[in-house]
Amino acid sequence: MHEAMIAENILETILAQTKTKAGKVTRVVISCGQINAINDEAMQFAFEVAAADTICKGAKLKIKHIPLKGICRSCGRKFDFDLYDPKCSKCGKSDFSIGDDAPLLLEEIEFEKK
Ligand SMILES: [Zn+2]
Repeated sequence: MHEAMIAENILETILAQTKTKAGKVTRVVISCGQINAINDEAMQFAFEVAAADTICKGAKLKIKHIPLKGICRSCGRKFDFDLYDPKCSKCGKSDFSIGDDAPLLLEEIEFEKK
């Protein structure tokens, strides 16, 4: 259940950042990479549980999955790495290195409008 840990961490970060602001959080956007990909459903559930007694109660959680980047050795292009069809989007060669995976990031916090 690494989603539960992630949810707690995200919640802690949100609460630390929103100390000075009043109002309820309505929407939270996070992004994650592919290697440590999180399961959307498990994450939604974990977030709901973790948010239950906070200003984030009932907030919508959006999870963006950031694709891995491939870097073509032939033409140098950076492209979104498709696990099912890994090849350069420009020259079509499959000789490339793989860039760093995207970290888990808290991208956006939206508050209830007054
Ligand atoms: Zn290429």
